[in-house]
Order: sequence, then C-alpha cells, then structure tokens
Amino acid sequence: MIEQDVLRRFLFEDLGVRGEWVKLTTSWQASKQHQQGPQEAQQQLGQALAAVVMLSATIKFKGSMILQAQGDGDLRTLVAQSTHDRKIRGLIRSNDQVSTGSLETLFGQGRLVLTIEPECAQPYQGIVPLQGRNLAAALQTYFEQSEQLKTRLWLFANETHAAGLLLQELPSQGSNKADWERIEILADTVTEQELLELDCEHLLYRLFNEEEVRLFDAEPVEFQCSCSRPVIERTLRALGSGELDDILKEHGTIQVGCEFCSERYLFDRIDVETLLAQESVANQSKTQH
Ligand SMILES: [Zn+2]
Repeated sequence: MIEQDVLRRFLFEDLGVRGEWVKLTTSWQASKQHQQGPQEAQQQLGQALAAVVMLSATIKFKGSMILQAQGDGDLRTLVAQSTHDRKIRGLIRSNDQVSTGSLETLFGQGRLVLTIEPECAQPYQGIVPLQGRNLAAALQTYFEQSEQLKTRLWLFANETHAAGLLLQELPSQGSNKADWERIEILADTVTEQELLELDCEHLLYRLFNEEEVRLFDAEPVEFQCSCSRPVIERTLRALGSGELDDILKEHGTIQVGCEFCSERYLFDRIDVETLLAQESVANQSKTQH
C-alpha cells in the first residue's frame, strides 16, 4: 500500500542521528485548494507544509508551530502551520506571475520566522533572513544559528504530493563527524521523484541499505483549520464598536472569510450588538475581581 498523509520517524541508533520522512497527499491537496497563486508559489507552500510537519515533530510541545516567510517580491507571504497532533493548514499571497529561482528571486528581501505557540506558555520565535537556494537551505541556516544542531532537509512538492526528508543529530548525544557526513552524503542522493513517489521503507532502503535504521510507526497528518466563530468574534471586538458600526452602515452585515479554509462568517447588527455586550460583561467581571 502506498503511504499517504503520514509522518514517519526513524533512527540510526548507533550513530546519534535521527530522521523523519513525510508524505502529504490528500492533506496537501485540501490545503492548496483554498489558495490562489501560480504553481511556483503553490510548490513553495507544499514544501513549507512538509517542513513544518517534520520540524514540529522534532520537539515535544502542545500547540502550534508556524513557519512564515515574508518578503517584498512576487511571493509576498507564505504561512504553513502544524499542530502537535499534525493538523496542517497554510496560505500564500502572491502576484499572478512568480519568477522561479532562489528565495531572493521568489520573495525579494524578506525574512523567515519560525514560531512555536505552546497552548499554555509564551510563544517562542526564531528569525533568519530569507536567503539561499531554497526553503530547505534557509531552514538549515536557522538550525545552525539558533539551535546549533546539525540538520539537513530535502523538500519537494508537485500538484498531487508534498514530501520531505529530515536528518538531525540527536540533541543529547551528538554525532560522530564521519558518521554524520556518510549519512548526509547518502541522503543527498535522493531525487525529487524518489521522495514524491516512494513509500518510506523503500526510500530508506534505497538510500541507506548498508546502515542499521530503526523505523517507527506512521503518524497521520490531516488538513484542519482552527478558525471558529469565537476566534473571529475576538478579532471583531478588537476593531471596536465605532469601526463595526461603520461597516454595518455601509454593508448591512459584516462578512469575514478565513484565508486558510475559505469558511465565511456572517454577522448582522444583532450579532454585533451581542458580541459587544459580551465584551462589556467580561470587562465588568474583570474589574470586580
Ligand atoms: Zn479556517
């Protein structure tokens, strides 16, 4: 059976090197279905989603990891998000035409921000310039600079699949230089076709057949947007009653669309009055405590 929409971890037990492999199919197609943009921009989103699933699995946390690339070029914004239980979503904002090439060609001058949003703690953010051959190269720079962990990534996406391979030295153990280089050279022979088409066992065998690799069970990945009416209500409240009143006067209702999943939320005057009344109740109870 061909594996789809799964993450698999593997380990070179004696070498201090861990790995991950991810293949997104239905989840990838569902994510990009809601995004406008030329194929080149879509491919970047596929690569970013594959990356964020693997990166979120390298740390223990509950919450979301968000990879965000922002520049002044043809591709202005790219957001890829994965929760700890591998619910993914993403968005792109780009011109109708995007020049292909390095990250600078795609994004212009920009930055790559990796944010970890734990459920019950302050978010943590790391930033690197949006520079290099591709997203994988920029993320490698990120790990060299901020985590000081040897990390390599290979990312590919086409119309139907997005896939990735990650190697990282074990934080606690570290790896022997010669071992790391051998594994890295073997992994670097991976082709786009192999990564997009083979299942994990076949790929690992093709790349590392003389190495001892322990492969763990598949973990499912799916597209799921975390937007909801209460979240949109919070955003509307933040706009304030004056602004909301202006929109109501002009349009009669307030329509808010989610950019990740195209869900539309509609608020009429009564809805807006209710959500503003809830706010004043919440404020009163805050001041009483
Ligand atoms: Zn949504």
